[in-house]
Amino acid sequence: MQSPDLESLTSSFQPQNFLVLVVDDLRQNLKIVGTMLDEAGYGTTFSTSGPQALERVQAARPDLIVLDLMMPDMSGLDVCRTLKANPEFREIPIIFLTASHRQDHLLKAFELGAVDYVTKPFSSAELLARVRTHLELKHTRDQLQLVLSEVQRMATIDSLTGVLNRRCLFDLAKREFERSQRYGSVFTLLMLDVDHFKRINDTYGHMVGDEVLKSLTQAIQRSLRQVDQFGRYGGEEFVIVLPESPLNIARQVGDRLRTISSQLSIPTKTDPISLTVSIGIAAYNPQDKAVEDIFERADRALYQAKAKGRDRCCVWEEVDGSTAPVATT
Ligand code: GH3
Ligand code: MG
Ligand code: MG
Repeated sequence: MQSPDLESLTSSFQPQNFLVLVVDDLRQNLKIVGTMLDEAGYGTTFSTSGPQALERVQAARPDLIVLDLMMPDMSGLDVCRTLKANPEFREIPIIFLTASHRQDHLLKAFELGAVDYVTKPFSSAELLARVRTHLELKHTRDQLQLVLSEVQRMATIDSLTGVLNRRCLFDLAKREFERSQRYGSVFTLLMLDVDHFKRINDTYGHMVGDEVLKSLTQAIQRSLRQVDQFGRYGGEEFVIVLPESPLNIARQVGDRLRTISSQLSIPTKTDPISLTVSIGIAAYNPQDKAVEDIFERADRALYQAKAKGRDRCCVWEEVDGSTAPVATT
């Protein structure tokens, strides 16, 4: 999965992409404000009372609200208070439209979360300038949020295969380690490495090698549970963390992954590629000082699997009081 270009996530400010809700009990005011906004290119929607405004917000999800302060039934201040109390609508900027110059009203409006106010009678230029300022601010905020989410995603995902990257895997394993220390649960870690991957690259080229890594990743991902953490540890090496799973389960998973990998047939322009993998398995041990200890045992078990001829799983386990990597398949 290729990451999108961060720049492509951002767009310039265009009034037609924004919807403004205008709330006023006087239809004549709605018409005046609506025409001004329309002519400036904004999308508009209207309400003539507080309760109706709340319904409109729910249905139309406006980007900004121009809100009359004085209305019968429910005042603009009450509408504002209700919206600001709702996390879903809290971020919508509200500009008050008011005939009142009373400072206590205006202060109350700001206290409740309004971003600005315009006093009636107002000029079109002033209203539009304030609307634009606050929509631009909101636009910038939304874009920053988008870019931030993408940066956060990119920081945890391997760009070639779309699975977790090394850093994220390590963080998750560390969290699992701490959970095991606290609750006495057991988790296991599998380290999987493609056998003779260099030969695939040498024979078919690096690009095909990349495709092989993607196909293998998808096949492994499909065969794991939702709670299992799977990622690319580096090059052609992958790690799987199995929460709440003792060695006998990990062994079954390891054998399954080994079988699945060996059954893959990845088409190329010439002949299809098949491959095998070697897997090293280690479990949490209460004597471990840090999560690195488990990674190290899994790595040593993997080394044993390679040394014993590849295409096999090797489990690091206790035999006759001493621990050593033992081949299972
Ligand atoms: P072994 O069975 O001992 O693991 O042999 P091997 O050839 O798989 O291991 P070795 O470590 O010698 O080679 C790994 C190769 O993986 C070398 C490297 O160029 C290749 N490789 C690492 N990352 C990538 C990648 O992202 N794409 C491709 N196509 N190749 C990669
Ligand atoms: Mg290898
Ligand atoms: Mg390797």
